[in-house]
Amino acid sequence: MSTHQLILKQRKELLAVLCGGGSAEPLDCVLDLLLAWEVLIWEDYLSIQVAEKALSYKVRQLLDVVYDKGEDACSLLLAAMNQVLPEEQKAGLCFGKECAEVGKNRPDTATLTLLADRPVLVRKLRDNIDGALNVLLTTGCFTIKDCDVVQLPVYTPSQQVRRLLDQVRFKGETAAKTLLQYLEQTETTRPNPEDKENHLSANCMRYQKKLQSSVAAQSHSLSTYGGTGHFSLDDIYTDGLLEVIDGSGETTMLGLEDVVGPVGTLNEDADTFLVSGEAGSGKSTLLQRLHLLWAREALLTNTFLLFPFSCRKLNAEHRELSLKELLFLHCCWPDRGQDEVFQFILDHPNLVLFTFDGLDEFKQGFTDEERHCCPTKQVPIPVLLFNLLQGTLMKGVMKVVTSRPQAVGPSLKHYLRKEVLLKGFSPGGIDCFVKKHHSDPAMARRVLESLQANTVLLSLCHIPVFCWIVTKCHQELLGGQDGIPQTITDVYLLVLQYFFQRKSSQPQGVLGKAWLEEHLDTVLKLGQLALEGLGASCYVFSGYELQRIGLTEQDVSMGFLIYCNDLSVTDCKRYEFLHITLQCFFAALYVVLNSKKNRSVIYRLFQPQYKQLSGLSQRCLGHCIDSSVEGVESRVTETLNLQITAQFVSGLLSQRHHNLLLDCCPTAVRERKAKQVVKSLSKGMQRHFKSIPRPVEGEKKSMHAMPSFVWLIKCIYEMQDSSIAQDTMAKLDVEHLKLTYCNIGPVECTALAYVLKYLRNPVGLQLDNNSVGDVGVEQLLPCLHICHSLYLRNNNISDEGIRKLLEKGMTCERFQKIALFNNNLTDACTQHFAWLLKSKQNFLSLRLGNNNITSQGVEQLAEGLSYNQSLQFLGFWGNKIGDRGAEALADALKNSTTLIWLSLVDNGVGSAGACALAKLISQSKTLEELWLNKNSISREGVECLIEALKMNSSVKEVWLRGNNLSPEEEEELSKQESRLTF
Ligand code: ADP
Repeated sequence: MSTHQLILKQRKELLAVLCGGGSAEPLDCVLDLLLAWEVLIWEDYLSIQVAEKALSYKVRQLLDVVYDKGEDACSLLLAAMNQVLPEEQKAGLCFGKECAEVGKNRPDTATLTLLADRPVLVRKLRDNIDGALNVLLTTGCFTIKDCDVVQLPVYTPSQQVRRLLDQVRFKGETAAKTLLQYLEQTETTRPNPEDKENHLSANCMRYQKKLQSSVAAQSHSLSTYGGTGHFSLDDIYTDGLLEVIDGSGETTMLGLEDVVGPVGTLNEDADTFLVSGEAGSGKSTLLQRLHLLWAREALLTNTFLLFPFSCRKLNAEHRELSLKELLFLHCCWPDRGQDEVFQFILDHPNLVLFTFDGLDEFKQGFTDEERHCCPTKQVPIPVLLFNLLQGTLMKGVMKVVTSRPQAVGPSLKHYLRKEVLLKGFSPGGIDCFVKKHHSDPAMARRVLESLQANTVLLSLCHIPVFCWIVTKCHQELLGGQDGIPQTITDVYLLVLQYFFQRKSSQPQGVLGKAWLEEHLDTVLKLGQLALEGLGASCYVFSGYELQRIGLTEQDVSMGFLIYCNDLSVTDCKRYEFLHITLQCFFAALYVVLNSKKNRSVIYRLFQPQYKQLSGLSQRCLGHCIDSSVEGVESRVTETLNLQITAQFVSGLLSQRHHNLLLDCCPTAVRERKAKQVVKSLSKGMQRHFKSIPRPVEGEKKSMHAMPSFVWLIKCIYEMQDSSIAQDTMAKLDVEHLKLTYCNIGPVECTALAYVLKYLRNPVGLQLDNNSVGDVGVEQLLPCLHICHSLYLRNNNISDEGIRKLLEKGMTCERFQKIALFNNNLTDACTQHFAWLLKSKQNFLSLRLGNNNITSQGVEQLAEGLSYNQSLQFLGFWGNKIGDRGAEALADALKNSTTLIWLSLVDNGVGSAGACALAKLISQSKTLEELWLNKNSISREGVECLIEALKMNSSVKEVWLRGNNLSPEEEEELSKQESRLTF
């Protein structure tokens, strides 16, 4: 078959693989190659990379452009895809015959060299963007604005490099030469990795191979799939959303390869990289992927030795160990030349990487009180671990640590090079995961359709562990007899049912209605183990402990407990729950179903932080008893686990599960426990409400939620009882509810909306700096009618989310303000705002800063603006509206009798735009502030503004810092008009 036909026939599949993970990186890499091979010319490239278009549009455009270029171009496109796509995505695709080498003469200009070497340059420059920009800036090839354009935080480092290259090309030959010279210099000063190998002895090489093969074997498959399927990590791994916040608070998305890269570095002197995320967000899996790729030499290629550790397993190490013993005993032992290998490690810290998974589960909280720097002296494990993290021991070795964010205290933060936030799956990630999980496309489609039909479930799937359960239990899900799952308790009950069903002796594995009662004995035993473990920070259990509780081999064979997957050689088997959240679920089942347990257990579970623990685990597990080790940070983790448990307890005691629990627990006991939960939740909320300070005169009564506020809301949601939500909210009387930096994702949005919709009085809901996303926005809709303002800055929201939000917003009389600074909005969202402004004549404030809106978008918005007679604040900071956009806005706003504040900072507005705005000034009777900093307005434009200001008395300030004016001009012009600020 000709390559022409191959492209046509496989169009759908090619589209799917290039868009599959939702990341533009595969397409960008293919484009790099096609530019380098001269298959595409620059104009083609521009016609494909249209900023505001969706990824699928761009891929289709690429396929069309190449198709039109004929057979050779098609075969090179297939070759490029073959080169770029990972093996697992290539299955089933046909790439045709290998095409001839693309051997071209070296280009004769620097600009052409940039194109020809583009794929290599993207790789090389990724870790050097700052350096390259610095050189381009100091040599005058770039302005600060050029640098800002390159470094927009919405771009990944690779995308930033591509923008840098595009900008250099645009600037011309001198800029291209400067960049190439800079690269040449950095090449010659960088150590050559070949040198490292020349000095490596055979023993070190042998040890590396041994370590690589053990790490590969250990990380090859996912433990959650251990007993129930045969997925390798390659088959199922799906990229999660990784973010880093730099020193100035800007967020950048990262790829896996950037976790230990320079982007987002906060402390150059530290060597510890933290990956933080909630339980189940995929931290361990990410680390496992990193291990596997290192072992295959596909990532971290400058790391010669990688030593993986699990903190929960280190808890069980009670011996004092030296560093050497820690490395060799817990990872793998060199067959020959142990001293030599160890010496090599000591001499080359820059070639070594340690990973510590689940620092939050390490029993002792981090402290830097005891210093230890001798690699051969034996010390307790916590001393060894903490000194490694601080860099007192083995300075220069990179460490990657994972933890839940709340468990990282200030003392550890001090030693972090940077913190990467893992935020679970994106909507595209969920799609990709489900398709990987179900090899049958029809089944995958059905599961995805059912998720689309139940957005509550879809929102849960943003957390990978829930996504795994939902996908795994698809049959129960699709054929659900007990209604569609709504809460995480519903989802975990599904998994329970699923595991019992697998082992069921009933015909066709169907479970009867009383399935829980049938397995009550196993559930209670597992529950006891789980609860005692949580109270003692114990997540790994010996066979002896299982025996003590009476767990039999048959109980274990159900699959909830798995063998610890460990590199170290130990003679006894150890077990852990499939996931920490499952341990919490069993603990909750025990609290609810065990009739012997003391009466106060529920009250203690719902105690405020740090008070829960005493007494919860009266009979600690054998190896867990260690009263000397307690630290605030480790107790935070226990609290977090008990909070998850409390959430499950709330869910299990909800009326919805009454029938299931009927024969497992006397009704009177169940009802008493449910009452206790309701009382505890109400008390917890009261505590929050009491903490609301009296409003300062002239300010709104506002509540800044404490972290446990969201937890209490989630517990109320689990109960699925609207009267509880209603009673609780009746007592909350605030005008502004601030939930910034609270890790609010789609799941939390569902719970928030469920409860907040019962607020008596309208509220401003501030959710800035969370991960609400489009799905979260949809979840918030039920409470939109009670929100007069919605603040969603920095929340990964795109045009689609806005469409749904505004559709509802238009019908909500009280909804008057929205702030969307720093999201993923493009011109496609402005038509919705135009409708909103047209139809809502009481809307007051629209802030759209730092998105990707151009003049086209503004022209669409102008339609609505010209009809609106209520808007007072309009913000466009950091978009690209240019002169055309400024003109359209000025024209649309000229009849406004309400506008007070307008910001067009950093929008590429020149003098033409300024003159248009001058007309607005001359007509407006209400405008008070106009912000035009960081544009390219020159003298001519400012003179227009001055003329207009002569006729205007309402304007108080016009900000013009950072425009195209000399200091002398600024001085002269400000003398002419004192309201101008330069
Ligand atoms: P955490 O360490 O944050 O608690 P895990 O890494 O243990 O979370 O993830 C829990 C489960 O979720 C995994 O066992 C796996 O089934 C699923 N999972 C997590 N991350 C991914 C991923 N990136 N790709 C595929 N599945 C994942």
